[in-house]
Amino acid sequence: MKLYSKASVTAPLAAMSESGRFVHSYIITGPKGAGKKTAAVYTAMMLLCSDVHDGMPCGVCRDCRRVMKNEHPDFIIVERSKKSYSVDDMRRIVTDAYVSPNDCDRKVYLLADCGGWSDAAQAAMLKITEDPPDPVYFIFTAESLSDFLPTLISRSMPSEVSPADRESCIAALSERFPDRDEAELAGAAAAFCGNIGKCIEYLDGNEKLMKNVARVRELSRAAASGSEYTALRVLSEVKDRDDLKELLGMFAAVIRDAAAQKAGSDVRISCDAGGAAMMASISAQRLTDMYDEVMKISYACGLNVNTDAAAAVLAGKMTV
Ligand SMILES: [Zn+2]
Repeated sequence: MKLYSKASVTAPLAAMSESGRFVHSYIITGPKGAGKKTAAVYTAMMLLCSDVHDGMPCGVCRDCRRVMKNEHPDFIIVERSKKSYSVDDMRRIVTDAYVSPNDCDRKVYLLADCGGWSDAAQAAMLKITEDPPDPVYFIFTAESLSDFLPTLISRSMPSEVSPADRESCIAALSERFPDRDEAELAGAAAAFCGNIGKCIEYLDGNEKLMKNVARVRELSRAAASGSEYTALRVLSEVKDRDDLKELLGMFAAVIRDAAAQKAGSDVRISCDAGGAAMMASISAQRLTDMYDEVMKISYACGLNVNTDAAAAVLAGKMTV
């Protein structure tokens, strides 16, 4: 069982398996789609697999298979009763943690997407993470380490997962999509900068993502040719703040590529090499201003920005 580009997670687990002593609490952070859930499932398999070798779970034993299918009675994905985990949810786990495992010598709790949980909810976990019952292990995931209290971090093993490098991304995709040709997989890897989760959604035909890739291409051409009208039309099509944020993130990558190209670098991270090449004719100062504006509006998308107003402001700044 191989996990691509997740050495920050797999290497410490391999070392712990060698020594026979596992940490009881894990914090996995990283951007959306970077593979936090996959890394968490891998960690649970390490803890529950009946046939670990070479520091890796076997991936085929009954325990591994049941963890992967989310059917293992000792791998508990903790449900939340509200939008984020509440104090009551945590109390429920603490009580349950003192019940012996069902099938294995260990039991593993996964608390996914902890972002936004209250200090009080975390505080309810402090005692049990400091002194957990022997068989009990916790895995927490969130986008950022700042979602956790320092005391919880100090008693956990934090690791950050990042998007895969290009080759690992393509390798992982070709396992998942064996019948697709490599150019298509490479295109997806470039479009989403190695974010395997996003690549899979895209190749699965997620229309929103496909539309955003097309929009990025239009935007970069509009910016290069100074067409405020096109920029405004493309931007004002997007009414959902999360979609707009995603589009702006992808477009910011094109601006970075254009700036890098101006500076003589050929390192590419965006989904639109052609657009970046066209935008490289824009002055460095304007690219910087445009980038700042895109990031500012992308940040505002996390607040309560009106998408129409944001589109108008940005289209104006892009084409001055
Ligand atoms: Zn196994």
